[in-house]
Amino acid sequence: MKNSRLNESVKAIKGIGEESAELLSEMGIHTISDLLEYVPYRYDDFQLRDLAEVKHDERVTAEGKVHSEPSLAYYGKKRSRLTVRILVGNVLVSAVFFNRPYYKNKLQINDIVTVSGKWDKHRQTINATDITFGPHKSSQDLEPVYSVKGKLTVKMMRKYVSQALKDYLEEVKEILPPGMLDEYRLMKRQSALRTVHLPADREELKQARRRFVYEEFLLFQLKMQSLRKIQREQSKGVIHSYSESLLNQYIKLLPFPLTNAQQRTVGEILNDLKSPYRMNRLLQGDVGSGKTVVASIAMYAAHLSGCQSALMVPTEILAEQHAVSLAGLFEGTGAKVELLTGSVKGKRRRELLERLEKGDIHILVGTHALIQDDVNFQKLGLVITDEQHRFGVGQRKILREKGENPDVLFMTATPIPRTLAITVFGEMDVSIIDELPAGRKKIETYWVKHELLHRILDFIEKEIKAGRQAYVICPLIEESDKLDVQNALDVHAMLFHHFQGKASVGLMHGRLPSDEKDHIMREFSSGDVDILVSTTVVEVGVNVPNASIMVIYDADRFGLSQLHQLRGRVGRGSSQSYCVLLADPKSETGKERMKIMTETNDGFVVSEKDLELRGPGDFFGRKQSGLPEFKVADMVHDYRALETARNDAQKLVESRAFWEEEQYAALREYLKNTGVLEGEKLD
Ligand code: ADP
Ligand code: MG
Repeated sequence: MKNSRLNESVKAIKGIGEESAELLSEMGIHTISDLLEYVPYRYDDFQLRDLAEVKHDERVTAEGKVHSEPSLAYYGKKRSRLTVRILVGNVLVSAVFFNRPYYKNKLQINDIVTVSGKWDKHRQTINATDITFGPHKSSQDLEPVYSVKGKLTVKMMRKYVSQALKDYLEEVKEILPPGMLDEYRLMKRQSALRTVHLPADREELKQARRRFVYEEFLLFQLKMQSLRKIQREQSKGVIHSYSESLLNQYIKLLPFPLTNAQQRTVGEILNDLKSPYRMNRLLQGDVGSGKTVVASIAMYAAHLSGCQSALMVPTEILAEQHAVSLAGLFEGTGAKVELLTGSVKGKRRRELLERLEKGDIHILVGTHALIQDDVNFQKLGLVITDEQHRFGVGQRKILREKGENPDVLFMTATPIPRTLAITVFGEMDVSIIDELPAGRKKIETYWVKHELLHRILDFIEKEIKAGRQAYVICPLIEESDKLDVQNALDVHAMLFHHFQGKASVGLMHGRLPSDEKDHIMREFSSGDVDILVSTTVVEVGVNVPNASIMVIYDADRFGLSQLHQLRGRVGRGSSQSYCVLLADPKSETGKERMKIMTETNDGFVVSEKDLELRGPGDFFGRKQSGLPEFKVADMVHDYRALETARNDAQKLVESRAFWEEEQYAALREYLKNTGVLEGEKLD
């Protein structure tokens, strides 16, 4: 395909000169094939429709007979309105044209005309934008509308594209093998391209679209799956060989039996550890689903095979909590756990690093402090990061390079919808813990209007008397947003006043220095503070099992996934927990979000809904999306095609036929052109 004429500049097309070529290139259209693949974003529909079925304000095209003399009214110097009565079938309607006085003489009684525009059902009037002086021509039912920039007009684009189709369509090669075209009854590439630009009707357009959806997903997934294959095969990982019986003994001595989901994911991870491939796996599980235990089993297996493990988490408090719970789990096993954070300094740090290098520490838990230059392991075989979206790619890489191709496990408590997981983490293996340990109490969630705050305060008071604690969260959209911090300050002042002599109220927000944040978090953790007013900085996995109430102010300002994450701060102990959403949402989506939160506790359901309401682009927030852009396909609506394409791609890259047979040559060529086969890595 490389030498095809399709790769020539658009200037080769009749009618496109320097200037237009420049305009096109600003839109990313350089070659003829770029132009052919520049898909319209919508179509103007000129299909004739029965007026009785057209809704108010919808676009309509109608053919009829001029019934009476048009009337022309001027207002101002250049502005005019031309009204003409037209008989459509046996219904008399009006067509109105603005600032087109010259149509008056062209409209003679009894002429047949075709008029398009917005239908005003109440006035039985078409606010016309287009007219054909004659009967409707059905070949132009659907006119492509392209998104254009600068001086380029949609008309020009239509002209260029149809010229390109005329002169170059025959050059377009099929890239999907015949077997796939047959199996899914997909339109051929040439017809599909012609159809998206010049569709005969909606049905044909649908078929063309279906073809490109599959093609886009397949190409993308081929890229991801071959990357995955290459990474597995080229990066020789550690083969962990450990004593199964010792590992099983550890699992048996855990204070509880593993859930089915935990057993399954443990199995997946252990398989990776035993294999010669380097593990590159994402472990997803809702808050409280028991990821830490699963991670501990992996670390213990690594230990039994003579390797060290590192667990990196985003905050000091989390690091401490993990270190404590791991030390508890490994008590009596001989696996030694240590903690390394920014607070470990001087002699203690020096000694710790020495022991680490000698192999006297088996499991090192910490923050960014783990990736400092002078942290050296004796033999690092397993790297785990918790809440992985908080770490940059670079940081993970530095940690990984402290060992020789260690196995890598990313843990995240932010459930990612399946469709997005397939896409964003396509080159990773994904394990999902989709089951909570038995006997967990469901967090009761209520949506309450602000005016009922006093009742919530009474409720908090009651819970505090019973020995519990409460979080009160105020919205903070951007960490530096002064107004929102003010919001937390105000709420803190109000609660401080209200609970004077009854409960202690603490305040935490992102503008506090980190040692102060730590300090207040510790006070809450130890129970010295009963009520913690905070911005969303508490979102990341802190564990205060005694807290049983989560109140979220202006809850409609948060995304669903974030609300769920916040809710996960309670319900971590044995007592019944509650989440109160204080909100008077104005928008429908705001109301919908509150409803969903009260209806489900399942993080995966919440995340699917979140994706539906927000769309893939916004799901991860503006800062980092990492999502590929598809021209035709839509990850949410076309998720079935996405799954099919993923499975097909997986099978293809594992098959010998794909790498050898002629029918796959175009697909292989695509992979080569995108740099995948040269061993480019995503991470
Ligand atoms: P996560 O990290 O996924 O939020 P944790 O690993 O911190 O969850 O586990 C949450 C709590 O559930 C911990 O107190 C842990 O001891 C407990 N837990 C984990 N697995 C089980 C299980 N299979 N049965 C009962 N309790 C469990
Ligand atoms: Mg956790």
